[in-house]
Order: sequence, then structure tokens, then C-alpha cells
Amino acid sequence: MVNGIEIQYFNVCKRKLWLYSKQITMEVENDRVMEGKILHERSYQRLEQREMLIDNQFKIDAVDGEYIREVKISSKMAEADKWQLLFYLYELKLRGVNKKGLISYTKEKKTEEVILDIEKEHKLENMIKEIQIIRNQDYPPTLKKLPYCSKCAYFDFCFSDVEEDISC
Ligand code: SF4
Repeated sequence: MVNGIEIQYFNVCKRKLWLYSKQITMEVENDRVMEGKILHERSYQRLEQREMLIDNQFKIDAVDGEYIREVKISSKMAEADKWQLLFYLYELKLRGVNKKGLISYTKEKKTEEVILDIEKEHKLENMIKEIQIIRNQDYPPTLKKLPYCSKCAYFDFCFSDVEEDISC
């Protein structure tokens, strides 16, 4: 069973996905992750259906009429955020619940609508298959420097032996 965090990590960094899947979790120590958790706890307080864990598989921030709402600090990972929300819409559809999505970015003060269609469903199905393959690998995907590595909770894990200057 794939969860929303894995869909996010698949679209951010496949090595990060592998590390997370092996329960090498350093995220709790990361300030940005803590910031995100506090943001989720404080958001959508006017809505009754919030922070809902679905079948122990994925957690949605809130249900607002015909929309599933997600809140993020910034839109730096907008593409990965979009796929995470599409995954929720897809999983809900499998359970007979058809919804649209809204992602709100607090830093940019903007909200984007996300709609699931057949093409995106097929892409998600392929992602889920690829995630299962990565999870079953004995070794992590090769290390590649990415623009957001220095902000990643796994930075020390990935780069402690790398001598070149990778600050970004
Ligand atoms: S530090 Fe970079 S390469 Fe390592 S898991 Fe994070 S994003 Fe991926």
C-alpha cells in the first residue's frame, strides 16, 4: 500500500523515497517538517472534517464541500504537492467518493484547484508501480545533487562523505 508521502517523495527525489521506505526517518528533526505539522494542525479550524486519516493509508487536511483541501507552506514543491493531492482524490474515487482538490500556499497567499482526470489516474497508477519497485530495491538510487538537497532532512545522510561544495 502506497501512501501520500511516498507519492510526494517520488516526485521530489527517488532516493528520499527509498530512505523513507526503509524507515530511515530523520524528518522529525527537521525544522521545516515541524513547521509543516504545526501549520496542518492550525489550518481549517472552521471545518468539521479535518485531519482525517483514511484507512490508515493517507491523511487529508480537510473536506470542504466538493473539495479536499491541502495547505502547504510554500509552492517550491508545487508539482509534487499536486500529485500528492491527486493521489488522495484517486484513492477517494476508488472508495466511491468523487471530489476536487484545492492546495493553498500560505507564503504566496494563493490557492490552486486540482482536478483528477483519466490521464492523471493512469500516471498515478504508473507512479504506484514504480514506487513499489523502488521500495524493493536493496540499495538507494544513485546520489544526485538536487537544488533542494541542502534543505532536505536527509542532507547529512547523503552528503556527509562528499567533499565538494554543494551549498545551494
Ligand atoms: S539530500 Fe538530496 S539526494 Fe539526498 S534524499 Fe534529500 S533530496 Fe534526495
